[in-house]
Amino acid sequence: MEEREYGKEIKDPVCGLYVNKNEAENFSEYDGVTYYFCSLECMNLFFDDPDHYSVCEAAKKSSE
Ligand SMILES: [Zn+2]
Repeated sequence: MEEREYGKEIKDPVCGLYVNKNEAENFSEYDGVTYYFCSLECMNLFFDDPDHYSVCEAAKKSSE
């Protein structure tokens, strides 16, 4: 019953582009979560300041 197609696209946390998991060449695990990036440049930016990007969604709740 699951729509596999639906989960193929995942958001690049750095630039917000959607990346196809099956074709992504740039991905890495951080804090137990796998992140996908559209380019090596975005991946480098992410690891420059991983907390800034990885907590982005969750942080919205706690920020005023
Ligand atoms: Zn990107």
